[in-house]
Amino acid sequence: MFEIPEYVTIARQMTESISGKRIAEGNLGNSPHKFVWYNLKPAEFAAGVKGKAVGKAYTRGRWLFVPVGDGHVLVFGECGGKILLHESASLLPKKYHLSLQFNDGTALSATTQMWGAMELYEKGRELERQYIRGMRTTPTEPEFSSTYLSALMKEAIANGNKTVKAILTQDQMIPGLGNAIAQDIMFRAKLHPKQPLEALQRNHVENLHQAILRTLEEAIRLGGRNDEFDLYGNPGRYVRLMDNNAAGHPCPECGTTIEKASYLGGACYFCPSCQRLL
Ligand SMILES: [Zn+2]
Repeated sequence: MFEIPEYVTIARQMTESISGKRIAEGNLGNSPHKFVWYNLKPAEFAAGVKGKAVGKAYTRGRWLFVPVGDGHVLVFGECGGKILLHESASLLPKKYHLSLQFNDGTALSATTQMWGAMELYEKGRELERQYIRGMRTTPTEPEFSSTYLSALMKEAIANGNKTVKAILTQDQMIPGLGNAIAQDIMFRAKLHPKQPLEALQRNHVENLHQAILRTLEEAIRLGGRNDEFDLYGNPGRYVRLMDNNAAGHPCPECGTTIEKASYLGGACYFCPSCQRLL
């Protein structure tokens, strides 16, 4: 699944390479998939994008916004899989869930792996969509301070998200983070995934805040994780510290064997020495 670094990378690359192109034809896919969320019928989508110019893409949390003409916004949300630019429409993949063919002969395809939204809205209406409406502050926004994080923790505890992994990955408390990047954040912050938030002192909150920002900065600088692909079909260059490859191997900090545990809908990878429960 894409998380913030992958979305930021694809939005930047879209702005570099498709902004200003005019859409000759749009298509809502040739491969039915019940977990792709569309808001329009194929003919409505085709009519909505035809002849329009693509604007500058931007992203928030796990949502990517692509202006289409002056009056519409194409929205990709909570996707995994691939969003790819093709030099020629003849290079479109066999199966995809959305395509745009441009006047200059190039094309874009989007294919989701598990689920994801691919929706076209009249400009402004996308902000009313569930999960976009009321989205909390994301860590790429300046308002995401350690004071903000500290207040969010109190809310998370009240909501039942009482541990470090829970605030990082559950209920979009911190939009755009997911199970992949959260492992490295917890390792950098030296916090155990099951660490109760209530026991954290001010310095722990500041370490966690710093770890979120540093990990995202690095993953964005490196074009996303190396198990995801960018707009040009290249894998990202961010190699996770704590993932399945690390389990059973020595911790890069202290040499203790990295452990794997299943917790809150996904595997956790952590160093039992560096990330002791407080
Ligand atoms: Zn360690």
